Amino acid sequence: MTLATAHNGTFWKHLRTVMLATVLLFISGVLSYISFFTMSSTFWVFIIAYNYVNTFSLMLGSMSIYLVLMIDYHTLRGWQSLDDVMFYIRGACRAVEFIVTLCMCGYIMMTFYMEMTSAAGIVMLAAYTYYCIVQRGGKGWKIWMMRRQASCKVQSLPRATKEDLRNKSDLCPICYQMMESEVRVMHCKHYFHENCLKKWFYIQDKCPLCYAQFQSVAF
Ligand SMILES: [Zn+2]
Ligand SMILES: [Zn+2]
Repeated sequence: MTLATAHNGTFWKHLRTVMLATVLLFISGVLSYISFFTMSSTFWVFIIAYNYVNTFSLMLGSMSIYLVLMIDYHTLRGWQSLDDVMFYIRGACRAVEFIVTLCMCGYIMMTFYMEMTSAAGIVMLAAYTYYCIVQRGGKGWKIWMMRRQASCKVQSLPRATKEDLRNKSDLCPICYQMMESEVRVMHCKHYFHENCLKKWFYIQDKCPLCYAQFQSVAF
C-alpha cells in the first residue's frame, strides 16, 4: 500500500511485493480451507483457522487497495470516489474479521460450557469477548456512523451549478484542485468538492474557510 502511494518504486519492487502478497494470500487461503474442511474440529484448530482467515482477509484487502491506488495513479488521476472505495474495502475486511471473531467467541463459549467451567476460564472468556465484540465492534460501528453522518451533511447542501463553477473558476480550498464538478455550497457561500467536504466533516462540522458552524441549507 505504501509502495502504491509513494509512486517511486521500480517495476521489480512492485512485482516482488505483489508476488509476496499473492503467495501469502494463497497460503493463508489454502490453510484456512484445510483447517475448516479437512481437520477435526477442535479448540486449537479453530484458533489457528481463525488466524489464517484473518490473514487471508487482510491480504485480500491490502491487495485490493493497492490495485485501486494503482488504477487511480495510472488511469483516473484524482478519482473522486477513491476515498469511499478504500473505506468500503477496509470496512469489508473489518466486517469479515468481526464475524470470524464472533464465531470464535461462540465456539469458545460452547467449548467452555461442554468441557470445563473453571472460574479463571470464564473470566478470561468474558474479558476476551468484551474486548473483541464490545470494544472492536463498538469502534467499528462508531466510525461507520461518523462517516454516514458526514455523508448526510454533505448531501443536505446544494450542488453548485455548472454556471456557478464557470463564473467562479476557482480552486477547492481543501485539495487545491480545480472545482469542475461534484461541488457543494455551504450556507456561508463557500464552495468545496463534495468528497473533500465529506472528509472534512468527518473531523469537524465547521466551514474549513470561515469556521462558520455547519447548517443544513434548504433547497
Ligand atoms: Zn477538493
Ligand atoms: Zn465558510
